[in-house]
Amino acid sequence: MACAILIVDDDVAIKDSVEEYLTILSYRVQSASSAEEALEKLKSFPADVVLTDIMMQGMDGLELTRRIKGKYDTDVIVMTGYSADYSYEEAVKTGASDFIFKPFRFEELNLRIKRVLREAGFKKERTRLLKELEQLAITDALTKLFNSRHFFRQIKQEMERHDRYDHALSLMILDIDHFKLYNDSWGHLEGDKVLMAIGRIINSCMRSMDTAYRYGGEEFAILLPETRLKKACVVGNRIRDLISSAVFEPRPGKYCSVTISIGAGELKEGEDFTSFIQRTDRALYKSKEDGRNRLTYC
Ligand code: GH3
Ligand code: MG
Ligand code: MG
Repeated sequence: MACAILIVDDDVAIKDSVEEYLTILSYRVQSASSAEEALEKLKSFPADVVLTDIMMQGMDGLELTRRIKGKYDTDVIVMTGYSADYSYEEAVKTGASDFIFKPFRFEELNLRIKRVLREAGFKKERTRLLKELEQLAITDALTKLFNSRHFFRQIKQEMERHDRYDHALSLMILDIDHFKLYNDSWGHLEGDKVLMAIGRIINSCMRSMDTAYRYGGEEFAILLPETRLKKACVVGNRIRDLISSAVFEPRPGKYCSVTISIGAGELKEGEDFTSFIQRTDRALYKSKEDGRNRLTYC
């Protein structure tokens, strides 16, 4: 879609001629004769660029720029005649992206608009890439769950929240049973498919506040904020049931299933992070000792 431009000038002749020129260039253009009218128009006309005169009756162009930058992600180009009252520095300080002196040639105005739009495009792309990178840095590539680095950050944050608001916090650690045997029998790639499927199953059981992590090679962790141990065990057993009933076909016509063992714990008053994890880990190993495919809570 064509870029949207809002022209603000109390000099009707300039406003109309700029509007006509930019319309011919196929921009979507609207105009206002005062800063107040411009702010009103912006509520229903999300402009990519606002082109404003500085010296106007009522609110001036700098105050308008300040207000726009405080509320919208819109670029502002200020237009001014040579004046001792306003400076380029002042306009840039209030957040303007560019400055153009009147009288200007329309071609120059168009070039400035294009440059501002191009830079806005770069900025958007940079923000998107940064977000994508941030997501990649905390995601396990195989299972698409969060990775262990994120786990250690999140558990500390959730424990702080627990201390501050006295909310319950439960943790589960899950480990696939005899997974080495599965890999040895069917190969690492088939093992990876099991890990991916388990990631999907765990994800499907998460409530909005819960977060799941690939904690180690074939170990997973789940953080359940505001959840008492009893409820965590219900979630854990549902995951355990779903995993044990999933069917894998590592070779055509050869059907297999896997089981997991789980340790579940709820954070105790005054307990530190190491003790919370170790205690839950011990519960997991009790599940292994007691025959696997079970959940033990502590
Ligand atoms: P247990 O029931 O006691 O947990 O037995 P186990 O065989 O699951 O445990 P062990 O710790 O002996 O072996 C873990 C296996 O997990 C060995 C390793 O090949 C496998 N594993 C770890 N990471 C990956 C991975 O990324 N992909 C695959 N396919 N296998 C993995
Ligand atoms: Mg293990
Ligand atoms: Mg294992």
